Amino acid sequence: MSSKEKSILIIYTGGTIGMIKNEANVFVPFNFDNLLKYIPLLKNFPAKIDSFSFENPIDSSNVNPDFWKKLVEVIYSNYDNYNGFVVLHGSDTMAYTASALSFMLENLNKPVILTGSQLPIGLIRTDGRENLIASLEIASATDNNGKPLISEVCIYFENFLFRGNRTHKYNAENFKAFISPNYPALAEVGINIKYNNQNIQKKGIDFLIPHYELDNNIAVLQLFPGINQNVVKSILNIPDLKAVILETFGSGNAPTDEWFIIQIRDAIKAGIIVINISQCESGSVEQGKYETSVQLRDIGVIGGKDMTTESAISKLMYLLGLGLNKKDIEKLIPISLRGELSE
Ligand code: ASP
Repeated sequence: MSSKEKSILIIYTGGTIGMIKNEANVFVPFNFDNLLKYIPLLKNFPAKIDSFSFENPIDSSNVNPDFWKKLVEVIYSNYDNYNGFVVLHGSDTMAYTASALSFMLENLNKPVILTGSQLPIGLIRTDGRENLIASLEIASATDNNGKPLISEVCIYFENFLFRGNRTHKYNAENFKAFISPNYPALAEVGINIKYNNQNIQKKGIDFLIPHYELDNNIAVLQLFPGINQNVVKSILNIPDLKAVILETFGSGNAPTDEWFIIQIRDAIKAGIIVINISQCESGSVEQGKYETSVQLRDIGVIGGKDMTTESAISKLMYLLGLGLNKKDIEKLIPISLRGELSE
């Protein structure tokens, strides 16, 4: 088929890429119709490009499960009509959205590429033009059989294509804003786009299942030396709490103070799922490696391996949203469902 027969849907949700400064010199989202006028070259792009704009574009700090649900609805209702999707999104919470979408779109067989920019697309020095054009190219790339090269949720930013649920925004200043500390890039963009095929998720069955239910009765408990008993106690006693991500030190280590272990143990006994995720960006949780994680393992804390916090949060919301019981969720946490952890 001729490449013009391919079609890509750009979904504009907001973010710096489409912002302008208001009278108070503050960045605010503006209407998407203006966006394409800044990239007139797009009319020569070798695929048909359609766009869908969220009615009220947002700064991505306002992202929440309802927003993810809307995004899944847009992708699902347009799924059969497009070869791929490019989602323009603020970079601040892009790693969360990419992780959530990866779980909510089961059996995804087409590219969903999230991108954005650090400078608005209307500025001369913007990174938005390159990010958008490369994302479109990746979203329309196919193999010799006309099948998409990428069939997972990804983030493209500043020359790198990453698996979305492995990413973390680590820089608020540089154009290179994202890292994927525990999983190699899926593609690198220079003069050519070099796909690292061995890292790319294999295509699954062609039957997309959208999931809309997310349960956000979860909390993140970040440990620090000197953490107060009352802080731990109040987090673990939040009404309706179903799961806690314990952000631990190094390879999953925590204080061995009796009060701390007892509080965590009692929470688990009371039915709360506790997951161990490291505060380190790189590396994996290995409960039992040090004396300071043996008790966590023994009282039933579940090691989250090398998942990012962003991924652990959305995986929990997704599994709880499926209505699974504690035992089944605990079984699925250390298993890779969408390539979110290394087994
Ligand atoms: N605050 C912006 C947002 O996340 C930053 C960006 O787009 O890069 O929406």
